[in-house]
Amino acid sequence: MQLRYDEDFIEAAVFLCASSRRARATPGRDDHSEAGQIHVAYATSSCPTPHPLQIARFHREREKLYAIPDPDERNAAFFRLNLEWFREWGLEKRITDVLKEFPLLPQKLSVLAVRKSRGRQDEGAELHVNEAGQRSGVMALRPESLARDAALKDYLRHEFTHLHDMLDPAFGYVPVLDLRALNGAQQRLARERYRLLWDITIDGRLVASGHAPMATREQHAAAFARGCSFWPEEKRAEIFDALWHNHAPRHADFLALISDPRGLREAHQAAPGAPCPLCGFTTFDWSAGESLPARIASRIIAEFPGWSPKAGLCGRCRETYEVAADPRFQVVCGLRSPAS
Ligand SMILES: [Zn+2]
Ligand SMILES: [Zn+2]
Repeated sequence: MQLRYDEDFIEAAVFLCASSRRARATPGRDDHSEAGQIHVAYATSSCPTPHPLQIARFHREREKLYAIPDPDERNAAFFRLNLEWFREWGLEKRITDVLKEFPLLPQKLSVLAVRKSRGRQDEGAELHVNEAGQRSGVMALRPESLARDAALKDYLRHEFTHLHDMLDPAFGYVPVLDLRALNGAQQRLARERYRLLWDITIDGRLVASGHAPMATREQHAAAFARGCSFWPEEKRAEIFDALWHNHAPRHADFLALISDPRGLREAHQAAPGAPCPLCGFTTFDWSAGESLPARIASRIIAEFPGWSPKAGLCGRCRETYEVAADPRFQVVCGLRSPAS
């Protein structure tokens, strides 16, 4: 398996490390105001602090590279230099040390690429498979997270477990969830729930092996109670416990749980600001499905087999279906598109 980094990630990580010593001396008073906060983070962290002579050498070597006239060659040279210091300052080791705990990854992946994440929402690991069947893992990481060694290890362990599961034949991962029977809003809900169940089993396994989870058992239990409120409390506690202690979870088990038709129907509560189960737009104008004439309800069910009148619908969808069902209007009236 090849370990690759994107240029932005390596450069940012090396620069943060090179500026850590200065930040320790004057926290928060850095002249690069944008990066100032990150420097302070480094100052209070376990970031390796390079020797000042090394930092001076790093900057000197960089200065020299500006003289390379060809832009591609110059970029390649910057990348090589940054990678050298990335290794020298022990930053790569922080990743590879955790990777050693996951032997399945180098066995099954042809590439593991680390890229710079664009923010907290952009973090996590993904699996890509090309036409030749080669598998690549992509890990999005914030360069500043390299400064917090313990938190980085916890994060990497959690994300590497996602990748491990995706690569483990016993898990039986299928990249596309088969949710065809569900409408748009239900599909979103099912995907969120899948992630929730998976994260519970990952953090449960991490705790069982003596590692720190990304979220505690109590935090997961609370999220599970919110996300799966349609099960009676006792059944919920039982399922949660089984997930938390499951050492060998399977994709199919998650799929069976998220596809519980009762959950998908009733979890869609017509709460103010919740998405309409038909168009998926958030709405404050709910209409009770039970009050719809039967011919309109059956028309909706013909189009959305997963819908039941109990789930309700938004005022605009109701209007659309009322007009469409009115024999005086011989137009086929579609739902509004997201653009309208
Ligand atoms: Zn996760
Ligand atoms: Zn609607």
